[in-house]
Formats: sequence, C-alpha cells, structure tokens
Amino acid sequence: MASVKDQWLKKLRDEIPEISPEEVSKLLESNGKDVLVVDVRESEEYRQGSVPGATHLPRGLLELRAGEKLQDPKAKVVAYCAGGVRSLFAADALRKMGYENVLSMAGGYTRWKQNDHPFEVPKASAEERAEDEGLSPKVDGEVGALRGETPELSSVEASPLVDNESWTAVDVREADEYRRGHLPGSLNLPRGFLELQAEQKLPDKERNFLVYSSRGIRSLFAAATLRQMGYKKATSLAGGYLKWQEEGLAVHIPETLTERERERYMRHLSIDEVGESGQLKLKKSRVLCIGAGGLGSPAAYYLAAAGVGTLGIVDFDVVDRTNLQRQILHSEDQIGELKTVSAKRTLLGLNPDINVVTHEERLSSENVDALFSRYDIIVDGCDNFPTRYLVNDGCVKHKKPNVHGSIYRFEGQVTVFWPGKGPCYRCLYPEPPPPEMAPSCAEAGVLGVLPGVIGVLEGIEAVKIILGIGDLLTGRLLTYDALEARFRELKLRRDPNCTHCADGREFPGYTDYDFFCGV
Ligand SMILES: [Zn+2]
Repeated sequence: MASVKDQWLKKLRDEIPEISPEEVSKLLESNGKDVLVVDVRESEEYRQGSVPGATHLPRGLLELRAGEKLQDPKAKVVAYCAGGVRSLFAADALRKMGYENVLSMAGGYTRWKQNDHPFEVPKASAEERAEDEGLSPKVDGEVGALRGETPELSSVEASPLVDNESWTAVDVREADEYRRGHLPGSLNLPRGFLELQAEQKLPDKERNFLVYSSRGIRSLFAAATLRQMGYKKATSLAGGYLKWQEEGLAVHIPETLTERERERYMRHLSIDEVGESGQLKLKKSRVLCIGAGGLGSPAAYYLAAAGVGTLGIVDFDVVDRTNLQRQILHSEDQIGELKTVSAKRTLLGLNPDINVVTHEERLSSENVDALFSRYDIIVDGCDNFPTRYLVNDGCVKHKKPNVHGSIYRFEGQVTVFWPGKGPCYRCLYPEPPPPEMAPSCAEAGVLGVLPGVIGVLEGIEAVKIILGIGDLLTGRLLTYDALEARFRELKLRRDPNCTHCADGREFPGYTDYDFFCGV
C-alpha cells in the first residue's frame, strides 16, 4: 500500500501547477510586480541564500503569517523550497487559504542555483517573533477552531508520560530552535517536513505522540496533519516548549555548533550518517598524530578540515627543504622552523575553530603514557621502527585504536590496529628487524603524492572510528601500488600468543629500540 505521503504527493502533482526556474526568472526580469515569490524553507536554509526579492514565509508558520505577507489573494504566487516537494504542500495550503493563483517552482532553489540564476544572501535573519504573537483575528479564529478538534495536554499532564516513555515527544519547530533546547528524548520533525518524513521517523501510527512547538500553535496544525495521516493519538502540547520550561520541567540543552561551524560543515550536516550529532562527535574527539611528515601532513590537514576538535602533533624535527616534496603542511618559508609550529600555523589557517596541541618531543617510553592517555585515537605517521613499536605498545596498553600507515618508494599500506578488536602490529611482526635489514632513512626514497594517498586513507579511518560508521580496516591490510595503480587487501589475524595483545596477558612494559637512522 502506498504511504499517505506518496498518495498526497501524487494528488498534489496533479493539482498544483508547476513553473520552471527559467519562467520565474523571466517573470521577475520583465517586471516583478506581477509575481510574489515565496521561500517556504526553514530559516537556516533561507539565510544561506535565496531568490532575489523573495518573501520568506517558512512552511511551519505559513497559516500564521500568510495574511500579512501575502495580502492580495488574487496575486500570482510562486512558492519554492529546496527541491520542489515541500513547496507543493505549501502551495496546497495557500490554495486552501484562498490564494487562487499559486504555483510551485519545479526543482526548487537547487535547480535555480544549478541553472545559474542570480541569488542573494539575505541580510536580516528570519523574524524572531513568537508564533502566538500578532495573529490576525481571522487566524486566531482558525486556531481556536483547530483547538476544538485537536486534543491537547498541559505540560504538567504530559511530563510523566514523556518521562516513562509511554509517549514520544515530537518537536515540530525548525532544526535550529530544537538545537537550542528541547524535551528530553524528543525527536525533531520540523513542520515543513512533516508530510514527507513522518512515516519514516514515526513508523508506529498507533503510538501516543506529544507534538509540540514553541507556543503550542504550530503544533496544533502539525497534530492535525498527523491525525489526517493516520496518527490517531497525536496530541498537541498546550503552551508549547516555553510553557514547559516555565513550569520548571526537565529539558535537554544539547551541545551545539556555532553558526560558523554549521556553515563550514554544511556538507557533513546534510548526510544522515554524520549530521549534527556526528559533527559534535568530531568536535569532541581528540586525535594524536605521530609525526608531521609525509603521512601526518595529509592526515592532519584533512582531520582539521573535517572538524576534529583537538589535534595533537608529536614531532621534534625541523622543516627541511627535502621534506617539501611531500610534507604539505610545510612550505618554503617555514624551512628551519619546528615542524609542530609550522604544522599548527597551517592547520589553524585552514580551520581556526579547532585546537591544535603541539608536542615538541620524540615519542619515548618516558612520555608515551602521558601522551596517549589524553587522546582517543592515535594516527601513526612515523617513519621508523622504534617509534612504530612504541606506538603499537602504547595503543595496546591504553586500548586505543592505532591507525597505521607506511610508505616505501612506490608502495604504501594502511590498516587499523585496534587492541581487542583485531591484531596489533606485534601479532604480525613480534620484533623489529635487525638494524642492518631495515632500509636506512637516507636511502628510503618515496614518490611524492604517494604519502598523500596513504595519509588520507589514515585520516578517513580515523573519521570513521569517531563517527562509528562503515567497515574499518581492522584485521585488513590495504596495500597500494602506485606504479600499477592497484589496491590489494590482505587479511590480518590476531596471534593468540602475542607478547603484547593476547587475551589476559599482562602488559610487559615498553622497549626502547635503537634508532637505525644514521647508524
Ligand atoms: Zn598483538
């Protein structure tokens, strides 16, 4: 059976005339007076940019504000949203309110922008007037009628029901209102998206839903719509969130992103697997990069861009001209500077909202505990065996994921050693090779760009760990041959007798191996 949403959409597509962005553009150019363009998106979408001269009338407030913003019921009105679906519902609502000539812009603002029509970024943000303020007598009458038909509960009545989870609270305010504070355990389903998302977000139509807005007006409209969709127990919270707060009932104030962060991470916020909560996880995360060299540079650069809130950099070296063929955090004018200092400047230049912590020291058995205990994830970008073993052992002891990468000439490899979840480095190579077998650092050339490939793979594994998404490279070694342009994958197994990570084994302590370079 088709969902209510699909049935409604099909009907609206038959009933609501659509207009292309090109035709809208022509109408605006020819005169502009013959048409009223109405942006029905949420306030934060509108603030990003809109059709020039458009009137902002968010769907959630449509019935409450249409009378004052669209005074001539005979005027030609073009409603648009982001993609042309919400505007169908908005146009339908306007027609029911008596507007005779309402069209929906096909493809919405997305197509408008794609087709290179001009846009403007509105200076003033959306009005902050409360939803129950300044309603016309006509709207007041409609709200009164709606109140007669739609069940309501007071905050005091509703609070125990929400507390014991026999009811689910549904916040129909806009997402940025929800972010500033909401009922504990409530979910956000803005009224503008109600018809489109209700069946997906509220699959149980028999459940008791407490629908609320800021003052209990928008929620009346929303509860009525939900009841039409088959949610027979949708009930509006009288007085809304503000009344609830005034009663001193529990609210949840989420940690939030700043406006600037919201803008910067827009492309994260628009994927469900990241979204606001994922971006906050990134913001709260602490990643330690071992080395600001060939691997550490691209890994740290992208982690900074992605919004990892605290990035530690361990490095004791200074920038040398031979580094610049691959170590992209540094540049010609930073030669001779500490790599940590150079890295911090570059990373904060890219993203000033993060915290870059520099550790000007060589990782050793003396400092590894203090360093690793302060971070969630270790990204290994070191170029020598003693450090690699120390990183491994520290991660085993502290049970931290070790995102491991290495490069040599035209080849690189990457994996995640996560103690308890997969093998550690020592499960594969219990001891370092003898110094004479290890390639000396001076000889070990590497093709430029290659560290970028491997370092970026390390970065993306770290991001997946933070977000808890996808399949990690735990127990898998991904190798990359740049000359053949080929990735291969090897299965890695835990050694049940591993000297360091075997189940129940006591940590044997750190070993300081001799540094091979220059020997
Ligand atoms: Zn092991």
